Amino acid sequence: MDKHTELPSVAQRFLRYVGYDTQSDEASSTRPSSARQLKLLRLLVEELQALGLSDAHLDDHSYVIASVPSNVAHSVPTIGLIAHVDTSPEMTGADVKPQIHPNYQGGPIKLNAEYQLTPEQSPELATHHGHTIITSDGTTLLGADNKAGVASIITLVERLLRGDVRHGPLRIAFTYDEEIGRGTETFDVEAFGAKYAYTVDGETVGHIENETFCADSAVITCHGVNVHPGYAKGRMVNALKVAAEIVARLPAGQSPEATDGREGYIHPVAISGGVEQATVKLILRDFELEKLAVQHQQLLQLAREAEARFAGAKVEVVFEESYRNMRLVLDQHPEVVELAIEATRRAGLEPKLSCIRGGTDGAALSFRGLPTPNIFTGGHLFHSRFEWVAVEAMQATVDTLTELVSLWAERSA
Ligand SMILES: [Zn+2]
Repeated sequence: MDKHTELPSVAQRFLRYVGYDTQSDEASSTRPSSARQLKLLRLLVEELQALGLSDAHLDDHSYVIASVPSNVAHSVPTIGLIAHVDTSPEMTGADVKPQIHPNYQGGPIKLNAEYQLTPEQSPELATHHGHTIITSDGTTLLGADNKAGVASIITLVERLLRGDVRHGPLRIAFTYDEEIGRGTETFDVEAFGAKYAYTVDGETVGHIENETFCADSAVITCHGVNVHPGYAKGRMVNALKVAAEIVARLPAGQSPEATDGREGYIHPVAISGGVEQATVKLILRDFELEKLAVQHQQLLQLAREAEARFAGAKVEVVFEESYRNMRLVLDQHPEVVELAIEATRRAGLEPKLSCIRGGTDGAALSFRGLPTPNIFTGGHLFHSRFEWVAVEAMQATVDTLTELVSLWAERSA
């Protein structure tokens, strides 16, 4: 069945997994949100069992859970390795036809008659000359997010079971519905039993992500006064206009469109309502809690100003916490990130700490007592038709994970 027997096993696995449509579905309330994810989850159980992990199973919540027993005599903390099987609802993941581009020599990669992947879109292509690049055919996403992570973890297991790498106890988890923010809702951290964990769900080779945004949402409700428009003079207060005014006066330099790196933003995501009442939903993001608090003040100030401008209008702002920067937890366990950095170096790569302009399952787990930074997979342009990954990048991920588990055993000796 596998046509690409010349490729290393991590790539063969990856090509097998992207053939499964595992798109998650925000509109569904089932777990997993789409039954199609279960097909791949079940395949992964079979593959782990075939490799020799006899305890591999789907737990009560349909997470794939498996253990790799320690092969050293001394005690080593149990390390978890986690990846998710679902793909983003933003782009179809059905009938993915992976395209293999061996010996990349620079320049654009043609996906189909209409689309090409260019180094301008993805400057990291420049670091992969001579490598084998995998893309979709431009009509779907590829699914490197996060099947490159799944393939790397299972290939690590295969390598460890050969027995020549000394390592402590490992726990493996494959989750679902990460892309719709429900990845770890029912994940049983205690039963998982790892002391520390890593999600293998990042991008650029060498990058270890130890920070996420601090994130809140806000709902601004504008109350107007509705009367018959024919007799509204001096009496009507149009809530839609109050809401529109608030959106128009949001600080332009603090938008997603105008920020990157460590800058935060205030982002209106939905507006609805009528003359009587209108609602604006926003998300607030910053890496620092203090700056998030400033964003709250900015919105409250805009609300007061709108009330002053529209006599008779009332504006309420309600904030809700979404998630917090995982560095707040990881800083209390510095060795978790330090060993990931050292493992990257030992794999012959250049490590770099970076921050995620979003959340991760690892952030949620960190705050539930399982410190979990995020390790690269080598994939790029996630959630799009241009998504790509180099075979060599996935191998570099496997090498890094191998060094990482061996480092934990070495450091605990
Ligand atoms: Zn992902």
